[in-house]
Amino acid sequence: AGGGVGVAESDALRTLHRIFGYDAFRGEQAAVIDQVVGGGDAVVLMPTGGGKSLCYQIPSLVRPGTGVVVSPLIALMQDQVDALRALGVKAGFMNSTQDFDERRTVEAEFLAGELDLIYLAPERLRLDSTLSLLARGRISVFAIDEAHCVASWGHDFRPDYLALSVLGERWPDVPRIALTATATAATHQEITARLGMPDAKHFVASFDRPNIQYRIVPKVDPKKQLLAFLKEEHAGDAGIVYCLSRKSVDATADFLCKQGIEAIPYHAGLDGGTRARNQARFLREEGLVVVATIAFGMGIDKPDVRFVAHLDLPKSVEGYYQETGRAGRDGAPSTAWMAYGLQDVVQQRKMIQSGEGDEAFRRRAASHLDAMLALCETAECRRGQLLAYFGQEGAPEKCGNCDTCLNPPETLDGTVPAQKVLSTVWRLKQERRQKFGAGQIIDILLGKKTAKVIQFDHDQLSVFGVGQEFAESEWRGVVRQLLAQGLLAVEGEYGTLVLTESSGSVLGGERQVRLRKEPKKVAVARADRS
Ligand code: ADP
Ligand code: ZN
Repeated sequence: AGGGVGVAESDALRTLHRIFGYDAFRGEQAAVIDQVVGGGDAVVLMPTGGGKSLCYQIPSLVRPGTGVVVSPLIALMQDQVDALRALGVKAGFMNSTQDFDERRTVEAEFLAGELDLIYLAPERLRLDSTLSLLARGRISVFAIDEAHCVASWGHDFRPDYLALSVLGERWPDVPRIALTATATAATHQEITARLGMPDAKHFVASFDRPNIQYRIVPKVDPKKQLLAFLKEEHAGDAGIVYCLSRKSVDATADFLCKQGIEAIPYHAGLDGGTRARNQARFLREEGLVVVATIAFGMGIDKPDVRFVAHLDLPKSVEGYYQETGRAGRDGAPSTAWMAYGLQDVVQQRKMIQSGEGDEAFRRRAASHLDAMLALCETAECRRGQLLAYFGQEGAPEKCGNCDTCLNPPETLDGTVPAQKVLSTVWRLKQERRQKFGAGQIIDILLGKKTAKVIQFDHDQLSVFGVGQEFAESEWRGVVRQLLAQGLLAVEGEYGTLVLTESSGSVLGGERQVRLRKEPKKVAVARADRS
């Protein structure tokens, strides 16, 4: 720390170059940093990946004293501090994971003025001992990360955040910066009011990435579809292909190479040397495709990534936005393309159910997935839905640069087809002997006498062959949408289809079902069968 207000901007820029190794500030960063370095308060709204950290890290380094960062993400503190230390920044943290000695060391460093940054969990700031410790040191700035946690009606409300208003009362001369990626106007107002920051300057970064074209297509034969997408639209372009598993990363990279597209794999199963080499190649060389798990991308800042392709469904809209956001940082036209199918829904619902974590964790994972599915199944503008999800207001009804705007999908009254699927599931449930997935349900509806249909006498069911109006791919679309709408659920490790509480109202004819029409000519292969 050091330096005066008069040379604030050049100090900030020099710190950006020297410590962080970046050329220029991005978006609102420079303005935010200017405000805080100059001693003013700021409320900052920026999408995830937008670069919020530098907004408080640089003022902490430029102003005399220690920057105090309040963050609820205790699990990340060690990593954040390690990353800063690797850059030569003197950082520390205090939370409940530390033992007495570790905490004493950090306290001593803080009091000796040896820290540029200290990360604290919000519950610590309710303790008099913490407040009196802070009062005995010198503070350059207070940063309140994830500031939407102060909003009582939000998902992430933390009572401890309410106590943070004390900071402004006890340290009226220390600038405060509140940061969040949640953009509703209501949350924004509540942050300002509850943290007591009436004079704060507000910085609202747009979540919109107008140069990115969003497209989500039904998954039929993902590798072939990907290949066609690359050849037809992005030959010779640099891009990222995301897969869920390491195995499919390797297989997809192999496949692309055999098809003459230069592709390299990236996942946590590769040794450190290979990973570093592949990442460096992607950054340095032109027109390289990296096939990766989500382990790839943290801190990747390559401006000319022309496409991001997803071969598997991301777990949340936040994840999707962050991953697709790696495309087109230079502002040139880019594509966010995803192939999405029934199996994605089955697999992810299964993973949530059989995964670790308590009930609350599962519920949260399920609601994240539901939001992602709603984005996939929407017949409205994808961008509009994405921006609405992040609470951004004022988006036009149609963006003109997503698949649903460019090629509006037809919708249909799907009540009868839905009833056919649900009553077949209900029939099979009566048998109890064996549990069945989507494949068997669809074979029954289509009246296919497969070995498995014969074996269980399913050709004797009254629903056998009642689904001639649709092709297999269309039935898969119906099942997928019923799963997405919560009218069907998945159970057990084999992905057995079961009814939900809402199924009854459809079966009873009280509830209508609206479905998106599947494109007719997609039945290429059965790669996506469950
Ligand atoms: P957020 O906290 O808003 O989610 P981060 O602060 O973690 O975002 O930043 C996201 C990524 O962008 C990080 O890898 C960061 O190093 C990088 N980044 C931030 N600002 C810049 C910049 N001005 N130039 C280059 N990279 C940047
Ligand atoms: Zn649109």
